[in-house]
Amino acid sequence: MTTQTLPRIAFFEFTSCEGCQLTVVDTLQAHPELLNVVEIVQFREAMSERGEDYQIAFVEGSCTRPHDETRLKEIRQQAKIVVALGACAHLGGINAIRNRQPLEEVRQYVYGDKADWFDTYVARPIEAVITVDAVIPGCPIDRNEFAMAVSHLLQGRMPNIPDYPLCIECKLMENVCMFQRGKACLGPITRSGCGAICPAYGDGCEGCRGLIPKPNIESLKQVLREHGMSEEEIDAKMTMFLTYQKMRLEEKR
Ligand code: SF4
Ligand code: SF4
Ligand code: SF4
Repeated sequence: MTTQTLPRIAFFEFTSCEGCQLTVVDTLQAHPELLNVVEIVQFREAMSERGEDYQIAFVEGSCTRPHDETRLKEIRQQAKIVVALGACAHLGGINAIRNRQPLEEVRQYVYGDKADWFDTYVARPIEAVITVDAVIPGCPIDRNEFAMAVSHLLQGRMPNIPDYPLCIECKLMENVCMFQRGKACLGPITRSGCGAICPAYGDGCEGCRGLIPKPNIESLKQVLREHGMSEEEIDAKMTMFLTYQKMRLEEKR
C-alpha cells in the first residue's frame, strides 16, 4: 500500500490545555503500528506540516470565540468524519464553568482593562456548532480508547463508547464505594469507560466523561443530600465538567 492510499487524518485544537493531543502522542508511542495505517497531515502538537486534505478530523477544545465557528465549519466541510476529542470538545469541559457567570464579569476578571481586545464568548462543545460523528470522552482521553476508536474508524465503524453508568464498571472492579468512604461521587450519572480510575484511587468521580443518556440527576442529588451535602455543595460538585450539559437539560424542562 502506498502512502497516498492511506486514510488521511488531522488534529485541530480550540480552547483547551492540549492534554488530549499529548495523550494522542503518548498513544502513538505505545502503538506505533497506527502510524503504518494512517497518514497524519496536520498535527501541530507533533509536526510542522499543515496539510488541508484530510478525511478524518479529530477536534480538541471547545468553541469560545465567534471565529472558532468559521474554522469548525471549514473542518466540517473538508472531513468525512469529525471526532470530538476529550471533554472540552465533547462537553464544553472546564471552560464551560465560566458560563455560570455574566460574560462581561468573566472578561473583566481575566483580561482587565484589555477585555475589549478579546472576542471570547460563551464556551460550548463543538457539537453546538457542527455535526459531530463520534466522541472520545474524558479529561484527558484514555489512550486505549483512542487506539480502539482509530481502529474502528479505519474499519468503517463508529467507536464503541460505553453509555452505561460508571458504577457498573466500578462494581466490576470491586472498589469500595466512595459513599461508604464518606466522599461524594458522580458515578451513577456518568458514562463509564475510564476503568473507574478516580474511585479506584480513592476519589469521587467528577463526571469528565459526560452524562449517560437519561441520567437521574434528581435521584443522585437526593443521595448527596442524604450524605450531608448542602445545595451549594451539590451544585459545585456537578460544575467541573457538567455545567454545559446540565444547563441544557434545565433549559429543556
Ligand atoms: S479535555 Fe482535559 S486534557 Fe483534554 S484538552 Fe480539555 S482540559 Fe485538556
Ligand atoms: S464509588 Fe462512585 S462509581 Fe463507584 S459505585 Fe460508588 S458511586 Fe458508583
Ligand atoms: S472516574 Fe469520573 S472523573 Fe474520573 S476519569 Fe472516570 S469519568 Fe472522569
